[in-house]
Amino acid sequence: MRIFTGLAIGEGIARGKAKIYRHTPIVVERKRIAKSQVKREHGLLDQAFQRARTALERRKGNQLEGEALEILETHLLLLQDPTYITSIKEKIEDKLINAAWATEEVTEGIVKTLEASDDELFRQRTIDINDIGDSIVEHLCGKSAHPSLVLDEPVILLADTLLPSELFSLDRSNILGLSLDGGGLASHVAILARGLNIPTVIETQLASHVAEDGDDVIIDGIRGEVIIRADHQAVQNVTERYNAYLEHEAELLKGASLEARTKDGKRILIKSNIQTLGELPFAEAEGSDGIGLFRTEFFFMERSALPSEEEQFRIYKEVLERVAPRSVTIRTLDLGGDKVVSGLNLVEENPVLGFRAVRFCLEHQDIFLTQMRAILRASPFGKADIMFPMVSGIEELKETLRLFEIAKRQLKEEGVSFDPDLQVGTMIEVPSAALITDLIIRHVDFISIGTNDLIQYTIAVDRNNQKIAHLYQPLHPGVLRLLKGVVDQAHGMGKRVAVCGEMASDPHHAVVLVGLGVDELSMGPHALLKLRKIVRSLDLAAAQSLVEHLLTMDSSVKTEQAVREWMHERFDDLTIR
Ligand code: PEP
Ligand code: MG
Repeated sequence: MRIFTGLAIGEGIARGKAKIYRHTPIVVERKRIAKSQVKREHGLLDQAFQRARTALERRKGNQLEGEALEILETHLLLLQDPTYITSIKEKIEDKLINAAWATEEVTEGIVKTLEASDDELFRQRTIDINDIGDSIVEHLCGKSAHPSLVLDEPVILLADTLLPSELFSLDRSNILGLSLDGGGLASHVAILARGLNIPTVIETQLASHVAEDGDDVIIDGIRGEVIIRADHQAVQNVTERYNAYLEHEAELLKGASLEARTKDGKRILIKSNIQTLGELPFAEAEGSDGIGLFRTEFFFMERSALPSEEEQFRIYKEVLERVAPRSVTIRTLDLGGDKVVSGLNLVEENPVLGFRAVRFCLEHQDIFLTQMRAILRASPFGKADIMFPMVSGIEELKETLRLFEIAKRQLKEEGVSFDPDLQVGTMIEVPSAALITDLIIRHVDFISIGTNDLIQYTIAVDRNNQKIAHLYQPLHPGVLRLLKGVVDQAHGMGKRVAVCGEMASDPHHAVVLVGLGVDELSMGPHALLKLRKIVRSLDLAAAQSLVEHLLTMDSSVKTEQAVREWMHERFDDLTIR
């Protein structure tokens, strides 16, 4: 038996057979060949080009639009370019090496030439050339650059890392539990796993290296343990813990319909974050006050082509109808960073600081307008708010709002109705925006603080990087000061403040947010019941004094310790931490 301890994500317990998934990059087979084999290698190369072309043609028929289609056509052109294949054939012949090796060398040569070019457009083409080179090599070697994973029976998936898109590409009903060697509490894959209600443990370091396919594995998503080849005693302990957890949950459920109001009377809205429609029943069952963050990009990631206006309209309409009369804050596309979609050219050296969210949407106005139109069209079917992610300054916000006005004008001209009172908000998740909240807020109805990114950018700590996870400190004095500034500025202008980052779902951090004056907390549905109970037992004045005390401290060690003690005195019965 081996036990790995990590961070518990999707609460719950799962037991099943292990399936290991590790990202091993493709290793090109390099072979010297005899002169007599040249013809054969040429033939294999022709075949690989043909297969790559056929695969692209098939994807092209898949209703691609916009840039996705452009990229695909560029790739097709490259594949049809006779100089590329001829150079590879010459390399095979001259150096007497196999086709995969020659493809690798020729592709690298082209990439180097393009990289040295003064022309930005040429430099950008290197990604396409590399992609095409990889796909030819894949066809030659008969394997994929990323090992493909098909789950045809229920398993416990143990991976080194997992991209959100990979999690989406899998049959989720066959993932009983998930263990990731890496992670990050605020990483998107963790948020997704929690949203999908998959018992998950992250940051297990080596679990995927120690387990083998078929091993009996238990994921303890309550305590944060992965138990490989569990013995009888371990199974019994986990079962007892699980039963206690279920009892505790049943107790909390009794409070699902109660208002979250502090003891001294401040109403705090407790809302849900969702990524998929599948999460709505949980939000409903746990008495959510609405949806505070609908991350729409996951719909884009789930499909091989960008969803059309009609398809998006139907999705937004369904969510609005199901949640009505409570409101749904629909966030426009936040692609980029670790949320990449096949077909869109989003590979960058520094993606988290790169072409993300509104930056991407403002460059792809067709995609942005389509989404805004779909949201507006759906708005009469419930209570919709629209929210823009990653705004970093006023020009960006104004340009975004200008496009929003265009979307409205278009619909008016077409005689299509929409809710004229639809509220417009922006996320505050970039420090530059946080510092000018008073200026930003003049242009919008509300703000929602995305603490996941705000912490990442304030402390300059990658939210997905396990090596520096200890620096990801929500109660860092710098973060607290920034948050206080945001709340005070927004309230000074009479606007409401929500938080939709993971801080809202952690009781220790949520009390601080309430003490800072935040009006609304939005979180994964799993945390709603616990947070409602905490708010109802909370004295706002006491939380405010706690915050005042924290703001005098100079380190996260001290703030964390102070909050832990404060919570321990008040909420020891909540089995938190
Ligand atoms: C955030 O950054 O806190 C947030 C809610 O957005 P996301 O997690 O989708 O980046
Ligand atoms: Mg964010």
